[in-house]
Amino acid sequence: MTRWITEPRRIALLATILVVAVIAGLLVTARLSSSSYAASAAPYRPNPRAVATPEQARESVPRPPMRAEPPSRQRAWNGPDGTQRTTGTPSMSLTFDDGPSQFTDEVLDMLDKHDIKATFCVIGSQVRSHAAQMRRIVADGHTLCNHTWSHDLRLADRTPDQIVKDLVRTNDAIHTVVPQAKVRYFRNPGGNFNHRTVSVAQNLGMVPLHWSIDSRDWESRDSKKICDLVEGNAHPGAVVLLHDGGGDRRETMKALKKLLPFLKERYELIAMP
Ligand SMILES: [Zn+2]
Repeated sequence: MTRWITEPRRIALLATILVVAVIAGLLVTARLSSSSYAASAAPYRPNPRAVATPEQARESVPRPPMRAEPPSRQRAWNGPDGTQRTTGTPSMSLTFDDGPSQFTDEVLDMLDKHDIKATFCVIGSQVRSHAAQMRRIVADGHTLCNHTWSHDLRLADRTPDQIVKDLVRTNDAIHTVVPQAKVRYFRNPGGNFNHRTVSVAQNLGMVPLHWSIDSRDWESRDSKKICDLVEGNAHPGAVVLLHDGGGDRRETMKALKKLLPFLKERYELIAMP
């Protein structure tokens, strides 16, 4: 008689333990997979200069709203902090930073000779004294990119308000000499983007533009090294960082003479759309 009573109870107890164990197992698995996803979704190592000190962290500047982009667009961007670092097409794009300068005309001549369109990331304070070069960049069909007023390498440390002022001042300077030109892109000096500079640029209607190939012409005094680096890393969709300003660019000019025909033969080269 006791056997008949205890047996169903024992079965019920075992069933309860089994159900609890299965639920616990599911919870542990879900937790593990979500933490490994979080790790793989954050490959970007922040620039040490952009990391906040404990004091800055305590102040905790509110994060400005990010503009939502459709998923297909996000896939093409794939740069740190929501920046775009590839063209999103099989074509490559050359970008020239830190101008306009005394080297810009030479770059424009070479691009014209090879019928190549490119992107110029210009510094606001240099625009007025190089108005002719600015007009030529636009007339030749190249794309403009805002590279801040005075190449502030610590822009990411500024307040959102200061960042807005810097970028708007630069766009205003550009529009003084080329009123109809669109400034579709923004590039943080040194590539030191963070969420503040990215969202301010986006809120002003500009796409934050990173790069996928650094020619390192900013440190190289050897045109062959610049050529080898770009030629060796060239790939469909690449955005190449070069400079037409910011110092003595004679080695960049020398490198471009070989680089442009080399790339033109192998890739379609476009201005960022
Ligand atoms: Zn720069």
